[in-house]
Amino acid sequence: MFYIYDMRMSTSIIFFLLITLSSCDSAQDNQKAVLVIHGGAGSLSTDRMSDSLEQAYRNKLSEALIAGRNQIASGGSSLEAVQKAITIMEDSPLFNSGKGAVFTYEGINELDASIMDGKTGMAGAVSGVTSIKNPIQAAVAVMQHSPHVMLSGKGAESFAISRNLDTVPNRYFYTEINYQRHIQNKSYADEKYGTVGAVALDLEGNISAGTSTGGMTNKRYGRIGDSPIIGAGTYAENNVGGISATGHGEFFIRNVVAYDIIARVKYQNQKIAKAANDVIHTKLKSMGGAGGVIGLSAQGSVTMPFNTEAMSRGYITLTGDPVIMID
Ligand code: ASP
Repeated sequence: MFYIYDMRMSTSIIFFLLITLSSCDSAQDNQKAVLVIHGGAGSLSTDRMSDSLEQAYRNKLSEALIAGRNQIASGGSSLEAVQKAITIMEDSPLFNSGKGAVFTYEGINELDASIMDGKTGMAGAVSGVTSIKNPIQAAVAVMQHSPHVMLSGKGAESFAISRNLDTVPNRYFYTEINYQRHIQNKSYADEKYGTVGAVALDLEGNISAGTSTGGMTNKRYGRIGDSPIIGAGTYAENNVGGISATGHGEFFIRNVVAYDIIARVKYQNQKIAKAANDVIHTKLKSMGGAGGVIGLSAQGSVTMPFNTEAMSRGYITLTGDPVIMID
């Protein structure tokens, strides 16, 4: 009799504890859900920018953050939030991705993008595409609807068409400012626009990262940067963290930057901010590698180091206002 009573008591205590613990978990998850984005490490500092241009950057970054965060708040995945935020920036001429892509040496626009899902370890990328309106969406399609990780050039374009993604003539990517930069023979050192990227942690604790770019002004025909390369420009792994990079791609490829930062967190137990700072400010800088990263730890800590003049960037939590920094 007593035994049965005790059993009932302990069953209800265990049940009560389980309910309490699971609601604590979701409360913590709610707090740590976060989205961080960048608009490239080639931005001008605000003292070399008009007030109206600075406001335009702030508005577009806020729009991308709010749209991505709303995706998460309504139960969407970190993958959807990253895709949403990057699509908004790709559609803006302010950034060197999608509409605002810079020109190659030959005077056209060739775009690269990648995305990684930290929950499944799956990834997708496109490189050297000239007619896909939103390369990040093509990267998602490669990940979700092909057995491959990266498709390039014409193959990527016909795959995008088969998935009913929007295509555009290459002149869609024409912007006067980028064309002038191209004919004045500007190089990366003169670059004033930026690649875009996003890293998100959703309510279920899943991390995703993505990056999209037009590459570097006057890059050679067929040149591929770090942005579509998993481990160099983009990396995400649940329970460890996620990174999206921007900068002089050759340095980021040679140093496998995104994965190097995540590996330091994973194998050396470093905080993501220390790992990212060491790679950007010490390792890359000592080699002359200009650029920066945005990143999130599995607990939702934000890191955004850069070693250039400026890197437009920002983050948003589940309930907060967008926090935007231009330099
Ligand atoms: N990382 C890009 C590339 O090398 C450029 C950038 O981020 O500004 O293609």
